[in-house]
Amino acid sequence: MVFERRNETKMKNLLCPQCKIRRFYLLNAAGERLVVTVTEDKQIHPIHENESLDGFDTSLLYCLGCSWKGSVNNLT
Ligand SMILES: [Zn+2]
Repeated sequence: MVFERRNETKMKNLLCPQCKIRRFYLLNAAGERLVVTVTEDKQIHPIHENESLDGFDTSLLYCLGCSWKGSVNNLT
């Protein structure tokens, strides 16, 4: 079906309000990073399909390109 992968392929990514890149990372309790993107519906997606958000704090995003950090609601 044509529309099956619509959400993955057509959804726009939200951007860092400072440097306008689309990649961020999350931290877990062990201080490990998980690189993610955020779609315009404010869903957080690991950039690798085999990774999971389990254990990571999704309330705080850290920009990979600058010192910005904040929640999905602060992205542009
Ligand atoms: Zn940034």
